[in-house]
Amino acid sequence: MQIRFDNSYARLPEQFYARQAPVPVAQPGLVAVNADLARELGIDPAALSADVLAGNEVPEGADPLSQIYAGHQFGNFVPQLGDGRAVLLGEVIDTRAQRRDIQLKGSGRTPFSRGGDGRAWLGPVLREYVVSEAMHALGIPTTRALGAATTGEAVLREAVRPGAVLTRVAASHLRVGTFQVFAARGETQALRALTEHAIQRHYPDADGPLDLLSAVTAAQAELIAAWMSVGFIHGVMNTDNMAISGETIDYGPCAFMDAYNPNKVFSSIDQMGRYAYANQPNMGIWNLAQLATTLLPLIEGDQEAAIDAAEERLHAFPDHFSAAWLRRFRAKIGLTTEEDGDSDLIQGLLSRMASSQADFTNTFRDLANKLDASDEISEDGAWASWAEKWQARLARDPGDASAVMKAANPAIIPRNHRVEQMINAAVEGDFAPFHRMNAALATPFAEGPDTAYFAAAPSPEERVARTFCGT
Ligand code: AMP
Ligand code: MG
Repeated sequence: MQIRFDNSYARLPEQFYARQAPVPVAQPGLVAVNADLARELGIDPAALSADVLAGNEVPEGADPLSQIYAGHQFGNFVPQLGDGRAVLLGEVIDTRAQRRDIQLKGSGRTPFSRGGDGRAWLGPVLREYVVSEAMHALGIPTTRALGAATTGEAVLREAVRPGAVLTRVAASHLRVGTFQVFAARGETQALRALTEHAIQRHYPDADGPLDLLSAVTAAQAELIAAWMSVGFIHGVMNTDNMAISGETIDYGPCAFMDAYNPNKVFSSIDQMGRYAYANQPNMGIWNLAQLATTLLPLIEGDQEAAIDAAEERLHAFPDHFSAAWLRRFRAKIGLTTEEDGDSDLIQGLLSRMASSQADFTNTFRDLANKLDASDEISEDGAWASWAEKWQARLARDPGDASAVMKAANPAIIPRNHRVEQMINAAVEGDFAPFHRMNAALATPFAEGPDTAYFAAAPSPEERVARTFCGT
């Protein structure tokens, strides 16, 4: 069985990567193969053996390499990061004629490993598998999980952990940080080649660097609004973790909120709330400003004119974000038409949810379910005035509010406590919870036998306050 690789990144100039084969592991063990995704990529799922997924066998036609990039980590510029524990096997053209990267993450040391061991442990591999696949099922652009394998090797983190490798599929692994590495070195030719490559790959209608900036700005505004609509907190929106394609990438200390709190932070190393839920659009534009900076040498005119032109493109972000946010939240409360007061109506709901620490996912889903059932909501004093305004607004909307809301408000999301429980079971050798989660989260808007189990908010003992970066 062949994987039909066509490796365009490997044809870029040599300073874009280091050729690097995955480092073989002691004992590959198959955890999961995403058969549907494999077929979408034109790959026979049977070809994805434990040896292939662990990196012990490199498929024919692969041209393994580690990509170079830089990045602002929590605001501090690091001039060289790069794939410290990943190799890009190559690219395939999928059944919808889209070019997709296939990457092994956790595949051993590379020239960009710095002090790291090049490995990943099972917990973060399964977290990324479950959460990225759930994100896809929620209809939100994301990298995907093609498979996971254990290595039979121990990895040292806060404790000794079982090693694993994730096979990640992405529209590309081009990051804001990929532009930054060449900009920081003053390598304008490389920047030009990268810009060309990114445009061809993701935004073929874009004409030059300013159009690329506009396209990425629009894609990120859409993406972050989509995250907000499902209560998702990325956790490490460093510029090396923002994809040019507009896909969600790098599921580290990420989480979906349980109780609604706009200032919610999960990452244990985010002391300042830089990547808090409600700060994500601000950080989006901050990252895009870094991308704009890298593109300045490619923009026509003197520096001042280039800055003005880039700023103008960046300034599209707030309006685009607000429009995307409003479109999604209108649907969440069942609206199909637009009125001036809609934003206030939505904010009114969110502020009540914040003060009563209402569960984000379940509140919206309950509203969808109870819509025409009773006036239960109006009986609750704190919510009565809001419910009244909402009912009046619904009465002026010709749409099928219940159907709209059920399609916009998932019944289940990968709740952090279930993810933790799933990881703890897997470490003990029980992968049943992992498969159960994947199965349920494949249809997050539908009610099924497992809906109640995965919809339940954590009990106080189950609550996970922090997600750790020891990935
Ligand atoms: P992340 O926080 O996962 O986005 O990673 C930030 C940078 O650290 C990237 O360049 C990673 O490749 C690198 N990195 C993370 N963990 C390891 C590791 N265990 N070994 C080597 N490099 C790593
Ligand atoms: Mg990263």
